[in-house]
Amino acid sequence: AAGPFGRVLQRMGLEKPAPTTHAVDRVDLSIKRGEVVGLVGESGCGKSTLGRMVAGLLPASDGQVLLSGKPIGELSAEERKAARLRVQMIFQDPYASLNPRLRVDRIVGEGALLHGLTDRAGSDDYVSAQLQRAGLDPSLRHRYPHQFSGGQRQRIGIARALAVQPELLVCDEAVAALDVSIQAQILNLFMDLREELGLTYLFISHDLGVVEHLSDRVVVMYLGRVVESAPVDELFEHPAHPYTQALLAEIPRLDVRRTKFQTIRGEIPSPLAPPSGCHFHPRCPHVMPRCKVEAPTLRGIAINHVSACHLHDGT
Ligand code: SF4
Ligand code: MG
Repeated sequence: AAGPFGRVLQRMGLEKPAPTTHAVDRVDLSIKRGEVVGLVGESGCGKSTLGRMVAGLLPASDGQVLLSGKPIGELSAEERKAARLRVQMIFQDPYASLNPRLRVDRIVGEGALLHGLTDRAGSDDYVSAQLQRAGLDPSLRHRYPHQFSGGQRQRIGIARALAVQPELLVCDEAVAALDVSIQAQILNLFMDLREELGLTYLFISHDLGVVEHLSDRVVVMYLGRVVESAPVDELFEHPAHPYTQALLAEIPRLDVRRTKFQTIRGEIPSPLAPPSGCHFHPRCPHVMPRCKVEAPTLRGIAINHVSACHLHDGT
């Protein structure tokens, strides 16, 4: 097997009640090289925390992040620096992550210069190439972030990430703040870059409709736990978990397949005090008595398809 490219293991609170709150709980996620994994769930479900763990920005308190099979914690300082470059994050609000006092050429070129991927003499051409790749006119490279539109700023953020030659992009709600037409452009750009550079993606979104067109596999999280994971077509054709079914029913378009599912009811509970048993039970149309006391575990229900719900018992 090709082996996982990045892997996060979290084992929390299995034997006894966890003394602290964990935004991400018992998650085992692996991403193969070249794969696009969509990670979905409502805001507050722990998607961003998991994304930051994968990017090495947050340590896993109990558990580990493996890169090409090697725990990040066991890498030498030199290896860790290289590993951090291999994984780059693209955030929802590019403006907040762009230094307003720096011109675009500095913003995009800084990381590459620091890590010796280009030198002062070659930096201008190097930056122009990255901007071009991200679909921005390189002649704009002497401008400041405030002189660009939201979509252009996201392209600057993408050019900055590409400049350090990453292998995995963790996109956290990367198109959520953009107009629908601009969203489509940026999503197309991600797919073009995948072809051109062989990039791997962890694509985090609250919107199942956004991840549908670019993911090979979709992982659904609810209150810090993975509740379902399947290849994208399988997930859309045969969603198994009531939460996934509710998310599908909420995609705003006409599709008879989905009208058989109920939309989600109620607000997402606080992750500080998640409901007992199955975290989804207060909102679930299929709730049974045992759901309130017993947390379901992920089980295989089809090839590469797992779901955590007591409804799958005995089927
Ligand atoms: Fe609903 Fe129970 Fe399944 Fe949770 S375990 S999703 S409450 S049926
Ligand atoms: Mg988030």
